[in-house]
Amino acid sequence: MAGRPAPMVRMGEMADKSYDVVIVGGGVMGCACAYFLKQADETIQVAVVEKDPSYTYASSTLSMANVRIQFSLKENIEISLYAFEFFDRFQEEMAVDGDAPDLSFQREGNLFIADEAGRPAAEEALALQKSLGCRVDWWTPEEIRAHYPLYRPEEFAGGTFGPDDGYIDAYSMLMGFRKKARVLGAEFVQDEVTQVEVDDRRVVGVRLASGERLRAGAVVNCAGAWAAEVASTAGIHLPIEPVKRQIYALKTGVKFDAPLPLTVLPSGLYFRTETGNLILVGKSLDEDPVGFDFTWERRRFERLLWPELADFVPAFDAVKVVRGWAGLYAVNRMDDNAVLGEWPEVKGFYLANGFSGHGLQQGPAVGRYISELILQRPPTLDLSIFGPERVLENRPLSESGIV
Ligand SMILES: Cc1cc2nc3c(=O)[nH]c(=O)nc-3n(C[C@H](O)[C@H](O)[C@H](O)COP(=O)(O)OP(=O)(O)OC[C@H]3O[C@@H](n4cnc5c(N)ncnc54)[C@H](O)[C@@H]3O)c2cc1C
Repeated sequence: MAGRPAPMVRMGEMADKSYDVVIVGGGVMGCACAYFLKQADETIQVAVVEKDPSYTYASSTLSMANVRIQFSLKENIEISLYAFEFFDRFQEEMAVDGDAPDLSFQREGNLFIADEAGRPAAEEALALQKSLGCRVDWWTPEEIRAHYPLYRPEEFAGGTFGPDDGYIDAYSMLMGFRKKARVLGAEFVQDEVTQVEVDDRRVVGVRLASGERLRAGAVVNCAGAWAAEVASTAGIHLPIEPVKRQIYALKTGVKFDAPLPLTVLPSGLYFRTETGNLILVGKSLDEDPVGFDFTWERRRFERLLWPELADFVPAFDAVKVVRGWAGLYAVNRMDDNAVLGEWPEVKGFYLANGFSGHGLQQGPAVGRYISELILQRPPTLDLSIFGPERVLENRPLSESGIV
């Protein structure tokens, strides 16, 4: 653990506050890092700086909150296996004074439809998932139809179904980590980090919009879609961009006897049932705008999503868009995977960034991993494959399960 620098006080100036670790951003990643640090070592001084504690634009609260083991990279599968395990005891572990956050984990399954072109990759991922002990099966189009008679899967090769996959209440997860981290002694500061301060290739703290400085030997970038902005203040370029993604909630006129799993078509179109007899649907497109744009476009659904949706589920040929929202993916343009660990050129500056639309479920494993790196403990789950060196060396990872 990097030593705590002595505070520097000048005449007439307020003393800088000193911490061991300052975390930039109090979304799921920031709160999970704070929780695991404090849980591992209660003496460590941790501050989490969050500019918007209402979390209006944080991805953590705008997520579809899906959790799945259906990835193709071993470490992404292992991250989700740990999430499953952790979520099972989340309520107990995060309880504060009898108040226990309920994640309402709905294990309604994930169904990834494959066409002939995608079948080899789907089978390869399936074999890896099974070798790691995951429950996932290959279904033929007939089997898909037998389970979900509303679907028209005949033109596809089949699909992989993971019955343990599902979705959680993202806000409860965020609040669970936040409240527990606070009770364990992490300080939450409402302010904006405007500068990560570096001296002689070593991080020394952060400067805030209020003018205050927080000194620390370790700073963790958990700024989600704002990660590249925060890193740039330390002279670091990250290939991470904020990309607008939009979700639509539909009334369909269909009375669902049983929930539909999160179903993902080879094009990337995805949908699932939501409480209130609604359907949630979305699709990531190359043309999705880059920037901090949260406007939501109802017509985009009619133009770009509905025809394909109604083709696969003919009963959805008449639907009403009742609401929706826009949020940001922190897209890692290099390989759509997380960037985790200490930036090699700035000692003490840690990254937990670039989750590209699948970060919520990675919160527990990433929080634990970053805390272990900072505390210089052997990692329980080795996630060094996501190390930031690969950004400097331009060594992309390959993961076929990105939606
Ligand atoms: C529409 C949508 C659907 C998604 N669906 C899923 C899904 O099904 N499953 C899944 O696992 N993931 C999903 N994700 C991705 C997931 O939500 C994110 O990967 C995850 O929440 C990232 O958490 P975070 O803490 O890194 O970012 P955030 O939750 O965005 O938190 C970052 C925080 O940093 C704060 N911040 C930024 N800059 C500063 C600064 N300079 N100073 C102080 N504070 C700052 C922000 O205010 C924000 O609160 C989805 C995302 C979106 C947008």
